[in-house]
Amino acid sequence: MNRVLITGAAGFLGSHLCDRFIAEGNQVIGMDNLLTGSLKNIEHLFSHKHFVFYHHDVSKFVHVPGELDYILHFASPASPIDYLKMPIQTLKVGSLGTHNLLGLAKAKKARILVASTSEVYGDPHVHPQHEEYWGNVNPVGPRGVYDEAKRFQEAITMAYHNYHGLETRIVRIFNTYGPRMRLDDGRALPAFMGQALHSENITVFGDGSQTRSFCYIDDLVEGIYRLLMSDYVNPVNIGNPAEISIKDFAEEIVKLSGTSSKIVYKELPVDDPKQRRPDISKAKEILGWEPKVSRLEGLRITFHYFQTLPEFQPKTESVS
Ligand code: UDP
Repeated sequence: MNRVLITGAAGFLGSHLCDRFIAEGNQVIGMDNLLTGSLKNIEHLFSHKHFVFYHHDVSKFVHVPGELDYILHFASPASPIDYLKMPIQTLKVGSLGTHNLLGLAKAKKARILVASTSEVYGDPHVHPQHEEYWGNVNPVGPRGVYDEAKRFQEAITMAYHNYHGLETRIVRIFNTYGPRMRLDDGRALPAFMGQALHSENITVFGDGSQTRSFCYIDDLVEGIYRLLMSDYVNPVNIGNPAEISIKDFAEEIVKLSGTSSKIVYKELPVDDPKQRRPDISKAKEILGWEPKVSRLEGLRITFHYFQTLPEFQPKTESVS
């Protein structure tokens, strides 16, 4: 049985990874400082005999007793609203945190996979984005704290591979959605679905012509699993290439939810990328991976998840 450390375990991606690695018969150590994660996402695992949870901030020295076979570093604030609120923690978890986990991987002779992001491409001049594109990032803009932390993370991960011969993997994650996203994380999808469920206006930023490409969580997890098990050390894009403008995306959610909400337009945030779509040729060729879940199907599952949250249930009065 392999022992796997997953950081950011109580987050959206981390919790789904915990589920997958448990299902594959591993022993999983979930670690999180609960800054943006929630224990609700992993409470179903607490009774599992092969799961333990450590409440710890990986920006500080990380100690894990016993052997480790794999480390997946997924701890970080990851939505624009979160990293704008927590710029220093975001920089620290991507830099100091990654350094600590690389050191741990070296000490344990473990293979480490780090969660990078399409944000390393910034507001891209190359479309779709392939892994050889170096990006267009503003280091001192509001998104710089996340983008540059992730770029540093890739650099130090490669340095540990080249200098120490550490087994490393780098996944560049494009917009991903699904159950357990936080309703209040400010991202387009939970914002639109929450607004639809509250019958509030749907807030599209800018004129909504900016594009994104949304990947369903199960597809992402499969891609990450395959990358970890592969022997490929350079960064690999994992995402769904089906690209859509944010305006059309908002309209899809209005239709799907049956809401009477109206779409309204708000100011576009600074450095908001104008277009984003992964070139997934590498993932296809090296991992034999491509997304399977259509946006319509994924959006339905996710909407149902939000719809069944306690806050959207009718208030019932107890009868004594
Ligand atoms: N967005 C929007 N309304 C919202 C939240 C986000 O129009 O209430 C836009 C945002 O400006 C961006 C796109 O939707 O152009 C995707 O935003 P998200 O935060 O989901 O992801 P990211 O910008 O990190 O790709």
